[in-house]
Amino acid sequence: MIRQTAPAARIMAVVKANAYGHDAVTIAHTLAEADAFAVARLEEGLLLRDAGIRQPVVVLQGFVEAQELALMDRSDLQPVIHDHFQVDILEKNPTAHPLRVWLKLDTGMHRLGVAPKEFGEIKRRLEACPSVMQPPAVMTHLSSADDRHNLTTEKQMETFHEKAPDDPARSVANSAGILGWRSSHTEWIRPGLALYGVSPFPDIEAESLGLKPVMTLKTRLIAVKHLQKGDRVGYGGDYVCDKAVKMGIAAIGYGDGYPRQLPSGAPVLVEGHRCSLMGRVSMDMIAIDVSDVLEASPGSEVTLWGQGLPVEEIARWAETIPYTLLCGIARRVHLMHFTAQA
Ligand SMILES: *Cc1c(COP(=O)(O)O)cnc(C)c1O
Repeated sequence: MIRQTAPAARIMAVVKANAYGHDAVTIAHTLAEADAFAVARLEEGLLLRDAGIRQPVVVLQGFVEAQELALMDRSDLQPVIHDHFQVDILEKNPTAHPLRVWLKLDTGMHRLGVAPKEFGEIKRRLEACPSVMQPPAVMTHLSSADDRHNLTTEKQMETFHEKAPDDPARSVANSAGILGWRSSHTEWIRPGLALYGVSPFPDIEAESLGLKPVMTLKTRLIAVKHLQKGDRVGYGGDYVCDKAVKMGIAAIGYGDGYPRQLPSGAPVLVEGHRCSLMGRVSMDMIAIDVSDVLEASPGSEVTLWGQGLPVEEIARWAETIPYTLLCGIARRVHLMHFTAQA
């Protein structure tokens, strides 16, 4: 799907934060045809190398110390250079092999990246540095691409083209850029969220973009009981039954990354039927109103998000974005009922 949207571009698959909670090593093995991977930090890159991943791996935060540069050199990781202090380190610490580096231009995000007025000078220093494979690649990051009416993206592209008009390896687009801004497609694209089948736009459903969720977070009921009108449920007794209720207890909680801030009424699927959450989310359990699910019994399948229940919808209920829900998946979940197919 992503290949079709930007057929000429090479794909740097973003697998930071444990591949958005999907398990970075599994995802990197699954995405065998990715042209490169991107991680945020050195440790994440080393993990991929230890797992035998051979493709280029870009470290988006680069290095802060010479020792980290040496580790990147040894493990063939490609640092992003976003500040002149990193060029000082490169100049003073010759590497064993010329390193592929990605010079990051700040086109308006004002997070990482060199200012446009410093860009030319820093680039010339990299071009003169024997530790750098020539020519350095160039990148920037879009701040507002998820809003298709926000002209910031066009302004950022203008600045980028002004500074890097004909560099042979340039990278701009995140998922929202890839799917929403054709002008941001350059030689390399950097999909993250879309790889996992989730929409980067708050106002467009994944399905209408042709995306299918990779993660389906599932568990099962471990108890079913019948409550009377007036009975209270969970910590604080916040939830009061306004009628007789058949209630299921499911083995999932905030200790798994299921968001504690979800209110009563948030949707949960039990054996494929839409039900609602009752009371507060605990560390290991939630209560669900299964009054309308005749077959609900201990062992019944419970889906928290994924197939049949978009994570985007749960994110809205939790007043957050899908990114935080996916990244927040705890290690314990990978030991249980979890399907990751890419
Ligand atoms: C996280 C990240 C991406 C991927 O972003 P998505 O919105 O998940 O596609 C791309 N580039 C950089 C620099 C990032 O930090």
